[in-house]
Amino acid sequence: MSEWGFETRAIHSGNSSERHNGATTIPIYETAAFAYGTAEELAEVFDGKRAGHIYSRISNPTVQAFELKMSALEKGVGALATASGMAAIATIMFSLCRQNDEIVTSSSLFGGTLLLFNKIFKKYGVRIHFADPLDLDLFRKALSSKTSLIFVETIGNPKLDVPDIGKIAGLAREKGVPLVVDSTLTTPYLFKAGDFGASLVVHSTTKYITGNGSTIGGVVVDTGIFDWKEYRDSELKEMASRRGSDLAFLSLARSYVLQNTGSCLSPFNAYLHSLGLETLALRMERHCSNALALSEFLAHHPKIVQVNYPGLKSSPHFAIARLQYREHFGGLLTFRLGSKDKCYRLINSLKLVQNAANLGDAKTLIIHPASTIFHDCSQAERIKAGVSEDLVRVSVGIETIEDIVEDFDQALKEVP
Ligand code: PLP
Repeated sequence: MSEWGFETRAIHSGNSSERHNGATTIPIYETAAFAYGTAEELAEVFDGKRAGHIYSRISNPTVQAFELKMSALEKGVGALATASGMAAIATIMFSLCRQNDEIVTSSSLFGGTLLLFNKIFKKYGVRIHFADPLDLDLFRKALSSKTSLIFVETIGNPKLDVPDIGKIAGLAREKGVPLVVDSTLTTPYLFKAGDFGASLVVHSTTKYITGNGSTIGGVVVDTGIFDWKEYRDSELKEMASRRGSDLAFLSLARSYVLQNTGSCLSPFNAYLHSLGLETLALRMERHCSNALALSEFLAHHPKIVQVNYPGLKSSPHFAIARLQYREHFGGLLTFRLGSKDKCYRLINSLKLVQNAANLGDAKTLIIHPASTIFHDCSQAERIKAGVSEDLVRVSVGIETIEDIVEDFDQALKEVP
């Protein structure tokens, strides 16, 4: 049989109704542990000689079904689900970085990731080099023999800049380091990470993967591109020679990091993620077309200083986004109004659009990043991330586009 298409994989991969008493959706295995008939059997599962689940902090059938679905969508060799997007990024860092290692990362990052790197990993001796994702030379110069990974977001949140991932992957390949890509804003529907040479893909599954703002989760997928036998760290090399390169990173991340930090995804959240995934393709089409229509309306509005959306032909990121994201540009846009007071006035005047710290929800959401998501960051960090005082971020939902535009239109009338 030929390979299933994206939509079919989103619905059917990971499900096995024979294994689950004919259930047509993945049942929720709400259990802490799994019992075995004999001491020998359980010991064999611990030894890895027999397949099976032991304890839900390590693995669980509902979570595994979601991991299989995500891996199928990314065409990866496997996936590891975590309690949140932040837990997924932390799991990668704990798996790949030691004291005195260095990472090279894009400077335009989601605020939580920025703080995780700067406030936590820096404290434990990992040096963080920030580079403008559009300047390949800066990335090249920042790489050294101590670099353990390169990290970029497919579309910077909230700067909305779009790096040339194929070129950064080429650099990573040249230097023999894995490229980690946060594809939360693009999802596997827009961005085929393996085709552009990314080694690991991370998602906050809180967002478009679930699609309705009902829960928190994260996932890491190994695309199978990086040969972990060649990695600079001996522990991972040893794992690769024991279990093969495809299983090495995920085995180490699961058995050393997830198991010991306890940052596992709950079965109930995995169930919600799997249900959400079934409609990902349809939802992403609507998020993208609504975001384009709203950005065009805002771009023509006299009270708006500047609109940032990679799908606007005037955007400096239009050409690369079009190429990398299959003619789609995501559901997030930002715009500047001239002052923080004007941003607050707009937010307080909206009737349909909700003021909330999330994105990728079916509902349209708005936020003032400088006073919320980035309030713990320094002014310098905010500037690097493209967060000015007069900026608002909109996560465009899948409501009727005329209703979204009308709400902005009436709220903008209240802005002086
Ligand atoms: N990465 C990006 C690009 C995000 O936007 C977010 C959250 O907004 C995260 C990671 C963190 O995900 P979570 O909130 O699920 O921990």
